[in-house]
Amino acid sequence: MRVVITGGAGFIGSHLCDLFLSKGHQVVAVDNFLTGSPANIAHLAKTRGFKFIKQDITLPFTVPGKVDAVLNFASPASPEDYVRLQIETLRVGSAGTENALILAQKKKARFLQASTSEVYGDPLEHPQRETYWGHVNPNGPRSMYDEAKRFAEALVVAYQRTRGVDTRIIRIFNTYGPRMRLNDGRALPQFFGQALRGENITVYGNGEQTRSFCYVSDLVEGIYRLLQGREPGPVNMGNPVEITILTLAKEIIAVTGSKSRVVHKAAMVDDPKQRRPDISKAKATLGWEPRITRAVGLKLTLPYFQEQVARADSGRKRS
Ligand code: UDP
Repeated sequence: MRVVITGGAGFIGSHLCDLFLSKGHQVVAVDNFLTGSPANIAHLAKTRGFKFIKQDITLPFTVPGKVDAVLNFASPASPEDYVRLQIETLRVGSAGTENALILAQKKKARFLQASTSEVYGDPLEHPQRETYWGHVNPNGPRSMYDEAKRFAEALVVAYQRTRGVDTRIIRIFNTYGPRMRLNDGRALPQFFGQALRGENITVYGNGEQTRSFCYVSDLVEGIYRLLQGREPGPVNMGNPVEITILTLAKEIIAVTGSKSRVVHKAAMVDDPKQRRPDISKAKATLGWEPRITRAVGLKLTLPYFQEQVARADSGRKRS
């Protein structure tokens, strides 16, 4: 296959590039580095079958040659990023998704959309099943992301129904691993950075809000299966083991061997209080479930953040 991965220099996008290349496919990564990074794909520069196109997908674009699948992973994805980049986030979810769909239609390629657990908002149903319509504030502090991704789902389904594009939708729950940006504001990179520097760990609110954290290699394997299979989705993918944010903070203190202490800061407005995927559909239709426990995943992630912190610190000293 020759696959186009928009957001290919992002955290999940770059792991997808690696996976498809490792399975013998050709990959065209498309990114404008708004939140992605050249460093995430630098190791692929000389890899046979890999091509990079620097492109903002909110503008019309094409990819020369045959394309068998388009995977649309371009978007700011951390709460801090999408609040900083509100209009960009809305544009990439709407115009960007449509440009990617048009490419798939022209090339007669399959299309896979990265949707998100955020389409469920601050969920009243728990755990979340794909049949749940969500509890979303349409103009709240997370609306630019939640509504862009909800609109994107609607657009994908409309292209499938009226233009015959063969589509897949995955709803991605919290995912972690190497190549997350140290300063993207999300709990996991933030806690690693703080713990490794011996700074206070900032937990928003009482820390009793929950999330379920999936290691990135599990997630990309699930995406691969979804693309190959017949199930159009939406399909939830994430790790169903749910923990409080306070527990995550303590586990990261332990895995880094840090002396950091937890401090509480004001709770975020509209912060989902609980989140856990019901993954029965992924299990039944794709035979997929995560394998990497958090104990293993956090250890696998540690060296990456150690390097990132060392690099950031030496950068600060130089300047
Ligand atoms: N959070 C926190 N401290 C931080 C960053 C995040 O306590 O420095 C909390 C945040 O309020 C949320 C949870 O951790 O309840 C997960 O936030 P994250 O930004 O990682 O992703 P989200 O799941 O909200 O998209």
